[in-house]
Amino acid sequence: MVGYHKNCKLCNSEHRATAEKMRQDGASLQKIADFMAEHGVTLSKVAVKRHFDTHFPVRDEVAKRYAEQSEAVLQEAVEKRLSDLELLDSMIERAYRMNALADDHIKEAVSTEYPVTLKNGRPMLDAEYKPVMRKGVPAKQMVDLFNGSMAEFRQALKLKAELLGESNGDAPIKIMFVDDLDDDS
Ligand SMILES: [Zn+2]
Repeated sequence: MVGYHKNCKLCNSEHRATAEKMRQDGASLQKIADFMAEHGVTLSKVAVKRHFDTHFPVRDEVAKRYAEQSEAVLQEAVEKRLSDLELLDSMIERAYRMNALADDHIKEAVSTEYPVTLKNGRPMLDAEYKPVMRKGVPAKQMVDLFNGSMAEFRQALKLKAELLGESNGDAPIKIMFVDDLDDDS
């Protein structure tokens, strides 16, 4: 921002803009002082310097604009990364759900039933129990879904860790499960 000071002879001169243009083109402080003297305004080199340092702070303005531009670029990069992370989060969530679904199916398919009888109101294993297999074999699509969703889940987690700068090279990613996907309660 261009400044102004009421006691500054340069600020108050009709030749201010010309002097500033000269300075931008490389004129020395002395040359500016001489130029002003030619137009009837006597001021010291120090006064000229003060004007250019504080009332015409090009460097400050450049630094400020540069910071603003940097900020804009940074902002853009952050938003891009945030939207990537959101996308990954939804992929992770979807893969997790698909995997849980397939897992339920597989467990259901291979689970065994144990015949029990009630004794004094408490379920007891039949003395001569024989596990009864149900269908025994999970549908192939479900096994494929389980494997596919697990791979997608791991891949998305890995990408997310990389985006967050938490990637630890080739070390395997640790996945925290809530103990079990089953909800038997
Ligand atoms: Zn000034």
